[in-house]
Amino acid sequence: MTSLAHRRRIGVEEGEDVAQLKLGKEFEKASCLMINEVKMLIDNQGEDAKRVSREPGQLNVTKKMWEYVERFSPGLEPSDIARLRSALLRESLADFEACSLANLRPKTVEEAKAILPSIQREAVRDGEPPVQRDDDGIQAILDLLEDARGPGRAGPLFVALAAILISICAFTFFEVVFPRIFWQPEHSALRSSFGIFWCCYIVYAFCFHYWMAIKSPPGQPSDFHLSAPDIARHPRYKLINALAGLPRGSGRPKSEDTPASMNGRTCKKCPRVDGKEPAKPERTHHCSICRKCFLKYDHHCPWLNSCVAHGNERYFVLFMVYLSIACICVVSWGLPSLLATLDHSKRWPYRSPRVATVLLWVLCAAIGAALIVMSLWQLWLVMRGETSVEASDNEWYHQRAKETGTIYYNVYDLGRVHNLQEFFNVPSSQGRYPYWTVLLPIAVPPATDGRNFKKRAGWRDITVDEELTDEELSDHA
Ligand SMILES: [Zn+2]
Ligand SMILES: [Zn+2]
Repeated sequence: MTSLAHRRRIGVEEGEDVAQLKLGKEFEKASCLMINEVKMLIDNQGEDAKRVSREPGQLNVTKKMWEYVERFSPGLEPSDIARLRSALLRESLADFEACSLANLRPKTVEEAKAILPSIQREAVRDGEPPVQRDDDGIQAILDLLEDARGPGRAGPLFVALAAILISICAFTFFEVVFPRIFWQPEHSALRSSFGIFWCCYIVYAFCFHYWMAIKSPPGQPSDFHLSAPDIARHPRYKLINALAGLPRGSGRPKSEDTPASMNGRTCKKCPRVDGKEPAKPERTHHCSICRKCFLKYDHHCPWLNSCVAHGNERYFVLFMVYLSIACICVVSWGLPSLLATLDHSKRWPYRSPRVATVLLWVLCAAIGAALIVMSLWQLWLVMRGETSVEASDNEWYHQRAKETGTIYYNVYDLGRVHNLQEFFNVPSSQGRYPYWTVLLPIAVPPATDGRNFKKRAGWRDITVDEELTDEELSDHA
């Protein structure tokens, strides 16, 4: 009776009416959390709190909450969550409406209306008459939810597949192929030691660069407020600074680049910041899969589940080069083992089945051939001072220049050797890292901050109306 009277009182006083899709003020003013935010809070409590919540005897509700959050959190980065929340609140949604939508993620306008009837009205501000929200307005809100979704769902599957294939191949190689080539009674100790060193080095080198390409942030315009020397001082580069004899905080590499040519470029696809389209530094492009802009964007790679851009391009290229070398080694050394699998008259003394050796050889032959072509292509682009995107752009600019009887120069092309040096952040004589760092599986920072790049003498930037936009680029592709 009390609760009924209480409810009725609120209903009358605050004007709550489900049939009219009106909500009481206590709803509009209530603070709510999205599932992602609850997960963030739990994550911030550290491993101990998580372990305790899983222990038997803990309150059921804590465990249930943890399981629920683990299962239903869409796995967004904290920065994405903050962006999503502020974008939703800008759409005149009440806090609890924004959170309901973010948690339930309706796919269609009809679904959104069914889940949250009040979405058809904008949150009422004090003293203002209620405003209806039409289907386009609701769709705009659903687009915001979709934009925060992050990288494609197939990405983690590709990464898992790559990890499984690499593990099977490495095991089979060291069990079947390696002993035949380096570990026979007639082999000298020198040959065996070289074999162990070389094989471990190559496997470690491509695994390290793969891991770094996945783990290193590709670099969004909003991430890189740091200058190139600041980036080089990051603890990640402590080891390389020590090896190269650079005291921590020495400020290398030098940033002697021309100022960033922002040229008023903005991204029309990224969420607005304070009502303005976010700025897009030179060489930055928008990835339609990650739904974000990346500095010196090259392409989106499903095998990394991320973009290849300024922050991880060096690792990506070295990963492909080392994996190509590994494939060449397996194909050339693995041929006797492959032939042995075909001879069924002999016993197969290994734990890994015959088919694993066939898989190893065929996979390395097929992937290796493709990888060699792709690595050479990437290195060729590096030598020309281009990214994959810029290669097709520049082709188009060349054509246009030809038609008007002029010559187009790529402003970032400083000469082949110089371009390679820029890319790998060498040599030490120019205040960078020694040449041998290219041969070591070790973290090396990019040469610039991703916003400023060295340019040819006498360069003129491409004006906004001359420039190809991301839309035109996707039309080309
Ligand atoms: Zn963008
Ligand atoms: Zn991407």
